[in-house]
Amino acid sequence: MSASAAAPDLTLYYPFEDKHFADHCFLCGTPTAPAETVLVFDQWLLERYNWAAQQIQLLDQSVQTYQNLRIPCCPGCRTRYVAPLEAQVATAAAAGPASLRALDEKTLFLWLGKMFYGILVLELLNELNPLIKPQYPLSENGQMLRRLQAFFQTFQALRVPIVFEDFVPASIFLLETDPRQDPIPFEYDDDLTTMTFSIKLDQTVLIASFIDNGMLRQAMRRVYEAAQRPLHPVQVAEFKARVYYGAHLLNVVPDYFPRPGQPGDEHLVYDTLIDDITREIFNPWENAAYGQSLQEMWKRWQIPYTEIMRNPAQPLSYLYDAQGDPLTLESFPA
Ligand SMILES: [Zn+2]
Repeated sequence: MSASAAAPDLTLYYPFEDKHFADHCFLCGTPTAPAETVLVFDQWLLERYNWAAQQIQLLDQSVQTYQNLRIPCCPGCRTRYVAPLEAQVATAAAAGPASLRALDEKTLFLWLGKMFYGILVLELLNELNPLIKPQYPLSENGQMLRRLQAFFQTFQALRVPIVFEDFVPASIFLLETDPRQDPIPFEYDDDLTTMTFSIKLDQTVLIASFIDNGMLRQAMRRVYEAAQRPLHPVQVAEFKARVYYGAHLLNVVPDYFPRPGQPGDEHLVYDTLIDDITREIFNPWENAAYGQSLQEMWKRWQIPYTEIMRNPAQPLSYLYDAQGDPLTLESFPA
């Protein structure tokens, strides 16, 4: 027997070349038996929020229950990478918002990324089914594929020990709601085209904008700082509208470069490059389009677009008052 631990496997996996999404482990590409899967939304989430039988509609309009959202995963990746990650977040979620906040950013990125990618794999598998003809196939959208590949390059840090040198791959936001004004324990939404994902666990709302190298969080740093207080759900929705619309404006896809390795390396190092010479990082902000994003996020409160855009230069806000100071909402409607 050898005394030294086995060197980690630093082999990267590129699933988009062969489109091996069915019957191959989502993390390493090993062929899998039909029963070798993991839940996109883990069992602890489904139990904690009584969510197993809730329904989700996919892009092809088919309806699934959350307990049936499963993706292929080999037993090794399940026990070594997926299960420990879920256990870590489950423990933190049970302990409350402060514990979730204490998780390191890479853990949150990988955990949110696993659900985002899981949904995406199911959408892609649907598209590869010859009986289904989606209206807007993701796999035929070149820009989309490039983003997905970039995302997967960073997301496979769940399996391969990868150090991101001087950058974070995504913008991760963590907000807290005021429990007295917040009746909804669990919520989830995503936008596959802008690579955004959000999930609500009791009072904690996590929002991710993937493959933006943290640029959106940098651009929104003052709004984010001002939102570090117990928020009314209508304020959280406004913040999400800003993130989702901001991600929509992102005009660049970062390139990632694994450094050449040496025998015996314990991890891979990634460098990144963004082409900000020939193009702007963000397209210009347009209030009319942002107002539509607000209307969508505020659906639950049925705020009409005309009301949102009463002042076209300054769409309706519940995060800030007319003077631009952070607003405290004791109740809503105020
Ligand atoms: Zn695997």
